[in-house]
Amino acid sequence: MPATSGRGHTHRAASEDEASEAAALATLHVIARLWRDDVRTDSGCTIQWAPSPERDPAPEVEHHFMTATVFTIGYEARDASGLISDLAAAGVAVLVDVRELPLSRRRGFSKTALRAAVEDAGMAYVHERAVGNPKPFRDAWKAGDTATGAAGYVAHLHNGSKANVDALARRVAEGGVCLMCVENDPSECHRSLLVDALRERLDGLQVEHL
Ligand SMILES: [Zn+2]
Repeated sequence: MPATSGRGHTHRAASEDEASEAAALATLHVIARLWRDDVRTDSGCTIQWAPSPERDPAPEVEHHFMTATVFTIGYEARDASGLISDLAAAGVAVLVDVRELPLSRRRGFSKTALRAAVEDAGMAYVHERAVGNPKPFRDAWKAGDTATGAAGYVAHLHNGSKANVDALARRVAEGGVCLMCVENDPSECHRSLLVDALRERLDGLQVEHL
């Protein structure tokens, strides 16, 4: 049997000596998987796999079926103590800071101070720069070109930060995670698009904007 790994694009052709009906079938299986990728890809830049007993294990994106809740929060309309009390009231265990730059002129919202306050309240703080919105897309968004800003950020999630989104999805699946950014309205913030990327990985994911 030729080795297959990942989603199948690195299969090794069987040598002539090893050629057998089983090897031919395995190769067809790989081709079928690649073909299915094409069919399933709607954005041209991401591929999702649902678990299936007849396919190989270790899909490129693990697809979970679960009912965890991910919280999101924006701090612009809160002070630091209000943020902490809202997180605690919701039962948040891990605050994931999704700002690209975890800095603020507002007291208590830069990374060091925020981490200290969150940890003092018995929660964990994690800064995930890789899922922040890079400045060019943030600037486009702020300038009113939300289509360019959103498309750029989604591409960023699907390409350079894909492994980080996968890791974040695993963390979210454990429950108690809150994504934090600036904007009070999640529809004005890249975290809504990040939630969409998490939903692609976590079927049934509940979302609660605090
Ligand atoms: Zn934001």
